[in-house]
Amino acid sequence: MRVTMVGTGYVGLVSGACFADFGHTVTCVDRDAGKIAALLAGRMPIYEPGLDALVATNVTQGRLAFTTDLAAAVAEAEAVFIAVGTPSRRGDGFADLSFVFAAAREIAAALTGDTVVVTKSTVPVGTGDEVERIIRDVNPRVRVDVASNPEFLREGAAIEDFKRPDRIVIGVEGTRAEALMREVYRPLYLNQAPILVTSRRTAELTKYAANAFLATKITFINEIADLCEQVGADVQQVARGIGLDNRIGSKFLHAGPGYGGSCFPKDTLALVKTAQDAGTPVRLVETVVAVNDQRKRAMARKVIQACGGTVRGKRIAVLGLTFKPNTDDMRDAPALSIITGLQDAGAAVVAYDPEGMEQARPLLDGVSYASDAYACAEGADALVIVTEWNAFRALDLARLGRIMAARVLIDLRNVYRPEEVARYGFAYASVGRPAAS
Ligand code: NAD
Repeated sequence: MRVTMVGTGYVGLVSGACFADFGHTVTCVDRDAGKIAALLAGRMPIYEPGLDALVATNVTQGRLAFTTDLAAAVAEAEAVFIAVGTPSRRGDGFADLSFVFAAAREIAAALTGDTVVVTKSTVPVGTGDEVERIIRDVNPRVRVDVASNPEFLREGAAIEDFKRPDRIVIGVEGTRAEALMREVYRPLYLNQAPILVTSRRTAELTKYAANAFLATKITFINEIADLCEQVGADVQQVARGIGLDNRIGSKFLHAGPGYGGSCFPKDTLALVKTAQDAGTPVRLVETVVAVNDQRKRAMARKVIQACGGTVRGKRIAVLGLTFKPNTDDMRDAPALSIITGLQDAGAAVVAYDPEGMEQARPLLDGVSYASDAYACAEGADALVIVTEWNAFRALDLARLGRIMAARVLIDLRNVYRPEEVARYGFAYASVGRPAAS
């Protein structure tokens, strides 16, 4: 099949490369000429494990191409996916659909025959109706179906998630679109991925409900972690104790600095807004949003407390900037609020991240960047682990003890065992666990 992907970001590029790997002929379009030039030169515009090899193989075999020429790519496609960004709209928190609607207008003008236009971007319920209306307005001559196919991949494990999804959700309003979408995903039958075909609105809402549920699970265990700290219990054992119950499940029960990233913060907020507009507020999700927002700044206070109540004039080393390991994505990363909170309290912050420093630079003022974890810790009054990259999981604590100005470790991902850290003479604070006795 001939597939065109409009938007070549984290989702569009991974989806496009994976569809090509399934045997489809894929053109990835982006209006960012720099991104397309990089891809044409064989350079990845984002960091995602395994992506460079997957792209190279499929380009070499002639199934994957990149262009800024949307009209040409759309004219020859049987399925056109919209995978552009849907960030929070400044000021009110609704999903900003301007990129989706602009893409829909451009696609509509370029359509030449029967095509299915598929929204892969995360869009509020009813957006498919609007995309359909735009296409009919701009180009009434073509017969077009608009489908919803929300994406559930996780950055850092995106290729595996795309190729072996827990499920594929397809929202359609007619049999033609359903047949085409089944054909697009047919190669995944071998991987036994369940396909759930629903109405378009149901598919759109399913994505938000999934993200809101996961964000709720994280926020729940974070609040239990705070309670654990107050009453002398261990959140990791509580999480295991509840997670072994199949009705609960063990995933997304890791206490930490609060969820961040390019999806959960904006999607939970957009769901809150959709629900308020529909006259059925989702109060639980409203609370999750508020609790999580406060938590990131509270993590800066936790660091300050671990430093004896003040960080003024102190050098604080931060390990990990991205919202999770194995990505360079800095969107809404907890590190941003934590670092700003520490700077507001008078700290000098030095940071290291294996992949995220380039994207962090424009988002953070006054931070110095180190070349590795030990250079970061050199002379620091405290070391804070914000993101659990593998490189931070087995640090040489004796060496850290020698090079730091004070032995204070704040582990916001519970990577270390309190007894182990205490053995090296560190004052240690983690999330939801009693200090070593
Ligand atoms: P992104 O910002 O990385 O990529 C979007 C790309 O679209 C950019 O490269 C931009 O230049 C391009 N673009 C915008 N308007 C365009 C146009 N008119 N024509 C051509 N290109 C255009 O965004 P992303 O992280 O890939 O997210 C895309 C969508 O997928 C969002 O709705 C997001 O919520 C959703 N999603 C993201 C993830 C994730 O992990 N990143 C997971 C699931 C769903």
